[in-house]
Amino acid sequence: MPNNKYKLLVVEDDRSIASFVHTVLETNGYQVLTTERCQQGLLMLTSHRPDLVVLDLGLPDMDGEEFIRTARQESAVPIIVLSARTEEQDKISALDLGANDYITKPFGTGELLARVRAALRNNRHNSHAAAPGSVFTLDDLMIDYDRRKVKVGAETIHLTQTEYNILAFLSQYTGKVLTYSAIICAIWGSLDEGSVKKLQVNMANIRKKLGCRPGENRYIVNELGVGYRMLDVQE
Ligand code: CA
Repeated sequence: MPNNKYKLLVVEDDRSIASFVHTVLETNGYQVLTTERCQQGLLMLTSHRPDLVVLDLGLPDMDGEEFIRTARQESAVPIIVLSARTEEQDKISALDLGANDYITKPFGTGELLARVRAALRNNRHNSHAAAPGSVFTLDDLMIDYDRRKVKVGAETIHLTQTEYNILAFLSQYTGKVLTYSAIICAIWGSLDEGSVKKLQVNMANIRKKLGCRPGENRYIVNELGVGYRMLDVQE
């Protein structure tokens, strides 16, 4: 649904992509600012206070990662990274630096708009998400943070401590892609050889216990080769 309240900043030096993104967003009621340069983008971030940034990683003056690093020192603005399929590793480090989501080029109108809507929504409700005594719900999934209890419908789900910790962690960042290393560091404190495998095994057990069939993206989306994303309530 069009929402002209939001101001979006697009930092992209590829003219055809920048103009495509600009047109799509503007047509859908967003106010759009664009720049081809990273440094200019950072200035606009301070002066215009956009509600969301769409960021290309390969920029002429500075790397897009520098943008994220600098922006995060003072701003929690949602950042959606645009990356080519060949930039898998860049995408992962951008997420670890604090980007909220990514879109792989080439992408379509529907995907762009869905990601933008999700990032704007998450930014609004994440500010009061992890309040003490709160209960998380997503469809029929319920997490009671105080009692460390999980239910699907009326059924209590018996998770191990580690499984619970992973699920609770993901639930505090719904809609955001969390990389393998971000989850591993949050749960086990450090990353070593075999950590990713250990995470994947735990995740397979969590999905099974929650009643998800293999390959089914219910509650949690498996972002292949990157990490996991808990679905947003309205996705
Ligand atoms: Ca570029």
